[in-house]
Amino acid sequence: MGKISISDVKPPAAVPSPADYPRSRVPVAPALSLASFLRAGGPPAPSILDAGQVRFVTSGRVAIALALREMGVGPGDVVLVPSYHCASMIEPVVWAGATPLFYRIRPDTTVDLDDIAAKAAATPHVKALMATNYYGFHQPLPALRAFCDERGLYLLEDCAHSFLGEHAGKPLGSYGDYAIASSMKFFPVYEGGCLVSARHRLDGVALQSAGAGFETKVLLNSIENGFDYGRLPLLRALLALPMAAKNALWGVIKAHRHGAAPALAPGSSDGGFGFDPAWLTKRSSLYSRLMLRVVSRRRMGELRRRNWRRLYDALAALPGCRPLFATLPDGVYPWVFPLLCDEPHVLFRQLKQAGVPVIRFGEYLWPGVDATVCEHSVDLSRRVLQFPCHQELRDGEIDWMIAQVRASANGGVR
Ligand SMILES: *Cc1c(COP(=O)(O)O)cnc(C)c1O
Repeated sequence: MGKISISDVKPPAAVPSPADYPRSRVPVAPALSLASFLRAGGPPAPSILDAGQVRFVTSGRVAIALALREMGVGPGDVVLVPSYHCASMIEPVVWAGATPLFYRIRPDTTVDLDDIAAKAAATPHVKALMATNYYGFHQPLPALRAFCDERGLYLLEDCAHSFLGEHAGKPLGSYGDYAIASSMKFFPVYEGGCLVSARHRLDGVALQSAGAGFETKVLLNSIENGFDYGRLPLLRALLALPMAAKNALWGVIKAHRHGAAPALAPGSSDGGFGFDPAWLTKRSSLYSRLMLRVVSRRRMGELRRRNWRRLYDALAALPGCRPLFATLPDGVYPWVFPLLCDEPHVLFRQLKQAGVPVIRFGEYLWPGVDATVCEHSVDLSRRVLQFPCHQELRDGEIDWMIAQVRASANGGVR
């Protein structure tokens, strides 16, 4: 079992690649700042870390692969996976030797319960169901739990968008046999994922340090990203020399590795596509694990909800656009603000060119997943643009982002 080639899901040549756009002027993910460490009063927001036993790995996709391994999923098995997805959810299934069977979702991103029932009844060797709490909004988890219990299936709860959150009095991540999270979508970290189980022991998941080079790189990259967005000005002045030394050091190391040795950091959400099984046995860095402890989850949760509402209020009535979710229920702590657009390609291009950090989760579906599999997934894949609402956005940055989106949607050149 080697590295998976997913060249089939690369963007077509006509679509500008990220390198063709200017760097975003606002941090797309939480950038480290002193405010990251501010406390907020009261109890912390419920989190997947409260759901059960936890293993800290280097990415969400590695956690998915480990969950499948713990379930004993292998060649000949079938895993029900959502037709609305990113490649990093499917690669680990293929890596495990199992067959992904894509189920339908409804226009509001919830699992089509009739479709999973039909597929489970018609298909031999279905072993597990993967369900994603998209954008932080939970699935009908008690129903999915009952569905799996009735059929003897494992439930893998994908909390990559829902590090925080609760449903019916229980933290998200506690409904699945196993649950996974992606730390860098919520914390100011460069790598990190969590494998969690409320129902099974994780004693068999043995992890080791990825080495001093990895630890150093993770730490420096996180600080550097904060610097790039004008955070941590005093520390920046103090560390000017070490950063230069770091760049020189990595230059030397890269030159000696000739690209043949394993990467120093895992494939991850900010590293684009790729799943490398070499990271299956590696523990998340000390820096990331520390951040998961010291960054206030309550502040994170409150600010994400507040920023989501600001984006909602400002963008809900734009022509040709409507928010994917009409309300923000209690217990939901969103990853981003998803906006359903009639002309997503025009808007996307204009916003990227203006330096707005617009994201397109699910832009590339696995080969074969088309409208005959699930027209709603194809529609969401094409039409949903997402804007950050993370806790490290400054008010002025959100105002600027809103002004850009309004200008493009209202009068943009069509
Ligand atoms: C990002 C993501 C993953 C994978 O997480 P990484 O940390 O990027 O490996 C899995 N599922 C969903 C829904 C995601 O958005």
